[in-house]
Amino acid sequence: MYAPKVSDRVSDLDTPSMIVDLDLMEANIQKLMAKLLPTGVDIRPHLKTTKSAVLAQKLAAAGAKGGCVAKLSEAEVIAAAGFDDLLITCEIIGPVKVKRLVALYQKHRKIRIVIDNAKGATAINDALAASGIEEPISVLVDLDVGLHRTGVAAGEPALALARHIAGLNHLKIIGVQGYEGHLQHLHDRADRESQCLASMKTLTETADALRQAGHDIQVVTTGGTGTAEFCVTVPGVTEVQPGSFIFMDTDYRNAVGRHYGNSLTILSTVVSRQGPRAVTIDAGLKSLTTDSGLAECKDARYVYGVLGDEQGSLVWEEGTPDLDVGDVVEMIPSHIDPTINLHDFYYAYRNGVIEEIWAVDSRGKVQ
Ligand code: PLP
Ligand code: MN
Repeated sequence: MYAPKVSDRVSDLDTPSMIVDLDLMEANIQKLMAKLLPTGVDIRPHLKTTKSAVLAQKLAAAGAKGGCVAKLSEAEVIAAAGFDDLLITCEIIGPVKVKRLVALYQKHRKIRIVIDNAKGATAINDALAASGIEEPISVLVDLDVGLHRTGVAAGEPALALARHIAGLNHLKIIGVQGYEGHLQHLHDRADRESQCLASMKTLTETADALRQAGHDIQVVTTGGTGTAEFCVTVPGVTEVQPGSFIFMDTDYRNAVGRHYGNSLTILSTVVSRQGPRAVTIDAGLKSLTTDSGLAECKDARYVYGVLGDEQGSLVWEEGTPDLDVGDVVEMIPSHIDPTINLHDFYYAYRNGVIEEIWAVDSRGKVQ
């Protein structure tokens, strides 16, 4: 069976393959840590990007404190792989999920959850009560700071929800989450900053209001790759959750610039010639996502187009060297998280040689 190994050359990989430039990835991690760690704010990277326990460990070794996952099923897999200091940033709703949460918490007491409604809180509390687990699970009130995706509204609704949770013995409020996802990709930096600071005002004022109402708010968590640098300047913010910075994508590069490099690409082979300045490559919708625009060839002279599930096109202008059947190109994803979710393994290389191979542990874990 085909099974690439450490010390193989990248040029020997079959395609499409997901490859990581280790020098660039390590530089991204160092840049983020150098910028954010001195502020004293905790960094809890969002593992919805990497979906990898090994990368969670690497981030922790560089100074991160725990990790976030989006879904319960991601938490199950990453915790089982040995990394269980996890905040699940999506609401856990419905009897099947609640049961799975209790089973996960049975084994992994560091798991933290977010809650934005009383019904969800009661269901989790009741299931924990029935399980016989005495230690209450750590809960963050999920606050809407402008994204209008999840989160309770600031003011009285947040206070009422916290009062409800405080009345439930198996839940322990430890903080507030307010994720400003609608701001991450704003191209105008000043606009991104000012809107972020407005969201942070809602978040930190709510944290203060909850404290005044008697809740023990220790964690105030927020931020992503596009805003973390602003979030950490706000007194009262204790934790940020950037994810994409480790690999980046063209969408983030276009929005926030080239401070972090595009360290992950999809290796692809030219499989057919379709005209004097057009070829077909073996990377289509199943290898590169298109929700945030089209992927780009690392060599920007060749422009990508989608040709369906399995293939894409590259076209070029006159005067550009021809691509031919068998040539191999590198494609930069337009949206990193869902692109990674299409692949089984990362092949991480330095100087053209594979140094490490990581499984995409929580690939497909959307429940
Ligand atoms: N926090 C939450 C709740 C998110 O949903 C996301 C991404 O969608 C992030 C943090 C990380 O954002 P990014 O990958 O843009 O850094
Ligand atoms: Mn994303």
